[in-house]
Amino acid sequence: MSKSSSTIRTTCPYCGVGCGVLATPQPDGSVIIAGDPEHPANFGRLCSKGSALGETLSLDGRLLYPEIGGERASWERALDLVAKTFAETIAEHGPDSVAIYGSGQLLTEDYYVANKLMKGFIGSGNIDTNSRLCMASSVAGHKRAFGSDTVPGNYEDLELADLIILVGSNLSWCHPVLYQRIIKAKAERPGMRIVLIDPRRTTTADQADLHLAIKPDGDTALFVGLLKSLAERNAVDAEFIAESTNGFGAALDVARSWNLERVAEATGLSVRDIAVFYDWFAETTRTVTVYSQGVNQSATGTDKVNAIVNVHLATGRIGMPGMGPFSVTGQPNAMGGREVGGLANMLAAHMDFEPANIDRLRRFWRSERVAQKPGLKAVELFEAIAQGKVKALWIMATNPVDSMPEADKVRAAIRACQFVVVSDMNAATDTAVEAHVRLPAAGWGEKNGTVTNSERRISRQRPFLAAPGEAKPDWWIVTQVARRMGHTAAFAYERPADIFAEHAALSGFENEGNRDFDLSGLMHAEYDGLQPVQWPVRAVRSTARMFTDGRFFTPDSRARFVAVAPPPPLTPPPGMLVLNTGRVRDHWHTMTRTGKAARLSAHMAEPFAELHPDDAIEKSIRHASLVRLENRHGSVLVRALVTERQQKGSVFVPMHWTDRFSAQGRIDALVGGQTDPQSGQPALKSAMVVAGPALAR
Ligand code: SF4
Repeated sequence: MSKSSSTIRTTCPYCGVGCGVLATPQPDGSVIIAGDPEHPANFGRLCSKGSALGETLSLDGRLLYPEIGGERASWERALDLVAKTFAETIAEHGPDSVAIYGSGQLLTEDYYVANKLMKGFIGSGNIDTNSRLCMASSVAGHKRAFGSDTVPGNYEDLELADLIILVGSNLSWCHPVLYQRIIKAKAERPGMRIVLIDPRRTTTADQADLHLAIKPDGDTALFVGLLKSLAERNAVDAEFIAESTNGFGAALDVARSWNLERVAEATGLSVRDIAVFYDWFAETTRTVTVYSQGVNQSATGTDKVNAIVNVHLATGRIGMPGMGPFSVTGQPNAMGGREVGGLANMLAAHMDFEPANIDRLRRFWRSERVAQKPGLKAVELFEAIAQGKVKALWIMATNPVDSMPEADKVRAAIRACQFVVVSDMNAATDTAVEAHVRLPAAGWGEKNGTVTNSERRISRQRPFLAAPGEAKPDWWIVTQVARRMGHTAAFAYERPADIFAEHAALSGFENEGNRDFDLSGLMHAEYDGLQPVQWPVRAVRSTARMFTDGRFFTPDSRARFVAVAPPPPLTPPPGMLVLNTGRVRDHWHTMTRTGKAARLSAHMAEPFAELHPDDAIEKSIRHASLVRLENRHGSVLVRALVTERQQKGSVFVPMHWTDRFSAQGRIDALVGGQTDPQSGQPALKSAMVVAGPALAR
């Protein structure tokens, strides 16, 4: 598409690739969507979801006016009620009796003010986000290894690598444009190899040179064994280990007993396949290991991340072109949320809860109420709500009644909560219908701000449509409530650019290059015309790669090996299957947006359960028949998809379908509340379920 004078440059609101989009509104009200050829994430490409964005902009289901108790109300009344109820709850029960639960769909400016209100002026750490479900284990793993939550490399590294290892990542469906970039590079450079490590034979396996159909949660054993193998064949970078790291000896001590046979037993892989993988890793200097939800959404997710990072530190393959561990995020602004303290255990400007950082915020925000300790992480937060400890909850742009583990319990907790506010585009998500107060939020195409993608690249989301009805941007809603709670001067923003400038100024405040996150070079940048840029941005530089000098953000500037021990294999009890949940190619989260585009539903029209033929025979389940999955948490009814792509002993069900789109149950109702102890990320891929023909009940 040629760019017309009415074309607006913006960013796709779906996954963490963060593709640039050209949106051109038409006189008939439609919008033509095309990839932005100048955006460095996608160079003009879009996937099926991105290219269908114009078909998802109808006002069907939109929340257009504020509501109190289901009745239309003025903004004045609704905002007064939210501010008054939060203030009274805090006065009576203390700051930890209130909470905000946000989303990787929020723009950085929205996130910044929500975090500032909760951690800076209410004085509680109780702001967490659905990004906890997405990449919290990567954050924890980065911090353990690097002393900071820093993604070292960038997308170009995936094109420069000679070996790409995809771990727990169906990149072809979940980050399609990044996958297209890799496949193009592979076509141009046939020597390039791809290894996929995934229990399922996904479409990503179709282009892989080696697919390791690993047992669920076998990843740590595979990478611990690789560390031992590298050391034995002297394929480590002794100089880098000596100059830039600590803890190699301890990590190797744990790895010593993990020979090929033991790794084979723990992973379910053949010794031959493991040896091929280890050979390829040892001999290929330009190696990138990409990992996603199959690594993060596990009770041992942080250990998996560190097992991966360990082999890159051992070989010195980090911070250089075509090398490094690379976490890809599921959401468009998971990274932006991390930057501003959207996670309960982080402060603004990427800072940890340490006394010096709390004091820095106290002085920068001129507030004596800065939270002194981390708040409740997502699963803990909904438990606290169920226990009546959190009495007022504000949910922004997300749908935890469908997407949280133990989803039925989460719904019951929200129903029992004394005061629930939902600000959302949608009037009738399974969460919004439970709210006492509903606040209409502006959506994609209407909002104005920034997002940060998986390679630390900040891009603008620009509006090209007027917000419908009385919908308002999230930053405005938060700011109005904050002012009504008495914080007028601290929330005197007139527009998102004011918030971004403060965010940039805070990142540079008392930061002499000793923290990873720094936007001081953008403090006075022209906001409307801001070009995509990778942080840190000091002076006017963009930063393509981190750790290029072998220096990290730990106190002694050395990276840390973490001595991780593989967990016992995840083995289902007799008669049960391991439940793996995930995405399909053309839907997004709980389908509030993609459910509006008929052509996106044409790819997969209904929820399904992928089963191995042996399990199907054993359980008398026929292909395309209805199957019931159940455990002590709940039950769902879905269509059986019997396929060799699925590993025996496990079942895959997509996460998207909800009570709104299917009367057959929500899959996250079957997932238990187990979390990774380091990150608090729920184990969304290891529930145990019984499967049987639906008519057997
Ligand atoms: Fe949007 Fe991700 Fe597709 Fe790019 S790859 S168009 S960011 S969904």
